[in-house]
Amino acid sequence: MPSQEIYDQARDIQAWIVGLRRQLHRFPELMYEEIKTSQLVRETLDELKIPYRAPIAKTGVLATIGTGKKPCIALRADMDALPIHEEADVDFPSEVDGKMHACGHDCHTAMLLGAAKILKMREGQLPGTVQLLFQPAEEGGGGGKQMCDAGVLEEPPVEKAFGLHVWPLLPTGSVGSCVGTMLAAAGQVQIVVRGKGGHAAMPHYCIDPVTTAAKIVVELQTIISREFDPLNSGVVSVTCFQAGDAYNVIPPTAQLRGTIRALTAERFATLKARVQAVAELVAKANQCEAEVEFPGIDYPPTVNHPEVWQSVRSIAGPLVGEDQVHVMSPIMGGEDFAFYAERVPSCFVGLGVRNEEQGATFGVHHPKFKVDEEALPLGSALHACFAIESLAELSAGTS
Ligand SMILES: [Zn+2]
Ligand SMILES: [Zn+2]
Repeated sequence: MPSQEIYDQARDIQAWIVGLRRQLHRFPELMYEEIKTSQLVRETLDELKIPYRAPIAKTGVLATIGTGKKPCIALRADMDALPIHEEADVDFPSEVDGKMHACGHDCHTAMLLGAAKILKMREGQLPGTVQLLFQPAEEGGGGGKQMCDAGVLEEPPVEKAFGLHVWPLLPTGSVGSCVGTMLAAAGQVQIVVRGKGGHAAMPHYCIDPVTTAAKIVVELQTIISREFDPLNSGVVSVTCFQAGDAYNVIPPTAQLRGTIRALTAERFATLKARVQAVAELVAKANQCEAEVEFPGIDYPPTVNHPEVWQSVRSIAGPLVGEDQVHVMSPIMGGEDFAFYAERVPSCFVGLGVRNEEQGATFGVHHPKFKVDEEALPLGSALHACFAIESLAELSAGTS
């Protein structure tokens, strides 16, 4: 496969990719509000004469390159930003107060458009279809699920999917992923503890939800440490504890919020059930009531298919050097690429964007998060090579 040729082509259009990325970076939009972002994607696809279906999942775009027939593979980018005020040292900072592309989804969108440009030039040689998924709302909104529910993997049936995420722990010029579970199943929990408020000098006339909620916070910590296999672990982090607002008043309620995570769907279901039981029973033992909810959309674990990871390795190796293809350990972050990976054999890959000299060392979701843009053509090349190689393999297998 002419992977080096494709990488050269991606480097030739580096300025174009970086230009798109910077434009997106300056105008970040939060989940399901990706109006301008979606418009830029559609305008760019129009310029490239690539047909698309939109809107899907409110602001999503599904673009199609190739024959329109089987075999078919999917490449995915997410488009949403975060409610963070940018403090990064860049010449093109966010122009929207309180919003920032702090997870690199601007890069993901621009890299996929770069791949679109390369693949369109080779459309006549593609023995099948490439679906380009520009999805909204990765940051907790389950945009990937909505895209799947809208049928983006169905016509023609997608047989493999590939996604990239900028990875600030890896240096530019390297990639990383692993076989099996790469990212955790993740969800949110909210616990409202109801007691009886009153004068704080007379606690015996009250039922104190604050002490009860404090006991729940502590008790939740032993679910993981005492009930879970340490090698198949999970996370319960209570991140928010809200109760009264006076020195001398016991409030009637206290509210806890947090995140729960596990590396398998089964463990995640167990964790939810145990969090609920512990909260309710600790509350009851303290004469309170606990109302437990799991708001938002639970993300499944992101599980990479062995064969797809293998083909990613065989593509990335010659491009970046075998020693720059890292086998990563799973982390407890969540990703809604998981919804695609749950349905079709997939691989999610971390793209190195770390550059100490440029100060590109901060993690994602940090207000100073910065990306080494030299990595972007590699991302476009990986997308394009993955599409070309996978279609070649699939068409050889079915002929
Ligand atoms: Zn993120
Ligand atoms: Zn992200």
